[in-house]
Amino acid sequence: MIIFGTKGYLYQLAVLTLVCGHCGNPSAHMLRKRVTKFTLFFVPLFPVSTKYTTQCTFCGAEQRLTAPQAEQLQLQAASAPSAGHQVRPGE
Ligand SMILES: [Zn+2]
Repeated sequence: MIIFGTKGYLYQLAVLTLVCGHCGNPSAHMLRKRVTKFTLFFVPLFPVSTKYTTQCTFCGAEQRLTAPQAEQLQLQAASAPSAGHQVRPGE
């Protein structure tokens, strides 16, 4: 008997301040990656689908992103540190 199925993984990639397309507030958004993996005997083997989403922390609206869009946002998050975590030039 062969047991196979899928298992979902959720990764939180970054937190960004964006203007929400749903509620219109400039609020923190969670950038998330959702990976569904094919499993055989409960062992995850390979990803069957990868989805990127942003979720508004103000209204909870979720938006789908393409992989390039998600990469772009991750770069933005890395180059623009949030308040309370300042990077000084030369360090
Ligand atoms: Zn919103």
